Amino acid sequence: MKHTKIVASISDRRCEPEFVKALYQAGMNVARLNTAHITEETALMMVNNIRSVSDKIAILIDTKGPEIRTSALEDPIDVAEGELVEVSGIERKSEKGRTVLTVSYNAFHTEIPADGTILIDDGELELSVQEKHDDYVLCRVENPGQIKSKKSVNTPGFSVNLPSVTEKDRKFIEFAAKHELDFIAHSFVRNKEDVLKVQEELDKYNSPIEIIAKIENLDGVNNINEILDHAYGIMVARGDLGIEIAAEKIPGIQRLLIKKAVQRKKPVIIATQMLHSMIENPRPTRAEVSDVANAIYSRTDAVMLSGETAYGQYPVEAVATMKKIANQVEGSKDKRNDITLPAVNNEVVAYLSEAAILASEELNTKAIVTNTLTGKTARYLAAFRGKNPVYASCYEMKIFRKLALSYGVRPILIEPKKDKFKVVRSSLKTLEKMGRLTKDDMVIYVGGSFGIGGGSTFMEISTVDRLTYKEAK
Ligand code: PGA
Ligand code: MN
Repeated sequence: MKHTKIVASISDRRCEPEFVKALYQAGMNVARLNTAHITEETALMMVNNIRSVSDKIAILIDTKGPEIRTSALEDPIDVAEGELVEVSGIERKSEKGRTVLTVSYNAFHTEIPADGTILIDDGELELSVQEKHDDYVLCRVENPGQIKSKKSVNTPGFSVNLPSVTEKDRKFIEFAAKHELDFIAHSFVRNKEDVLKVQEELDKYNSPIEIIAKIENLDGVNNINEILDHAYGIMVARGDLGIEIAAEKIPGIQRLLIKKAVQRKKPVIIATQMLHSMIENPRPTRAEVSDVANAIYSRTDAVMLSGETAYGQYPVEAVATMKKIANQVEGSKDKRNDITLPAVNNEVVAYLSEAAILASEELNTKAIVTNTLTGKTARYLAAFRGKNPVYASCYEMKIFRKLALSYGVRPILIEPKKDKFKVVRSSLKTLEKMGRLTKDDMVIYVGGSFGIGGGSTFMEISTVDRLTYKEAK
């Protein structure tokens, strides 16, 4: 029995009871219906199919919230890099020689900032705003592509003033209440008001349905505390989040959001592209396995599948893969296997290293500087994973290169010196010359008093100027 819960997205094109049963038996706990593309009638058919399989499967309905899409188009429009497109929230006539694009939010062209970026279709196509006009914004196409019908429109770093709940959402919330579904995952939650507006709708029907706030833009991340005050749980919706915010920031945000949710004792789902390659392949990439595993190591409640189960070629395998990873990771997710910083164990170098890292953070020094014959002191300093750089003076290139694998360590090369003070001085002077340190920088020096190779024995904390001070003879 796994502990980690699996949410699997199901589409109307493939939701026969046998299929749902196969997903359930493979380990699905929650079935997710995405309302972007279905009618209430279809949703009801899906709900009935799921319920015919087991009443143990929770049903989550995903409302679209304040999202923007391109308007319905008969044919996609090809655009070349450098081409100009007029983007507007109001329907405008397209004349010869001008490309006009309408998006599903009336005030779009008035609200978007003059230096804004518009990403279409999960970032496939990038437009940059050039000029603002009364009824449109003139945009430059930044990469060749196509403008397609009803595709996502993201505006990184900027949230429009769309109402929290659309007409369509309202219908689906009523539907969810009427059919007593379990969760409403509301998209693009920006603040507590967005959650409260969904709650208001639910209250009209006296519905006990719980709200999952989908965190998928910067506002949602910034307002996570107040959102957690009112939502039952959160989803880290990495698809849109990775477009609205630089993708490399997502892993850190994911950890932070999991931590916040766990501390508030509220469930958290990690979503999107977890086993993306399984849409086409029977086996996940190693990176995907690690992604699922790491979400579990960082203590998420649930992991989610989207296209993998909605339309992928290996839906049951995808659920089974998640289950296998969960079983394996949970088994080794013993507290004793959590990565903690090393113990000092009565060793002088370890004691000095830990003290140096603590002092460096507490006193906010510019760096820790050390000299190291074998690389050991540098490696020990690395093991305590400080925030500030560790400059390690070595005497040989072999040791210099060896430190290429040690966290936070920047080796430098100096001439061996016989005397303790000369080593300190030479290290600091070299760093000064390299422009890494200036006279007034506070640093911590960890070194040895008894010649090269004698092991580290002391720590000094002062400015570069004072540590290199030489009395006039
Ligand atoms: P979506 O939400 O699949 O409804 O867009 C999840 C996400 O954005 O990651
Ligand atoms: Mn999304």
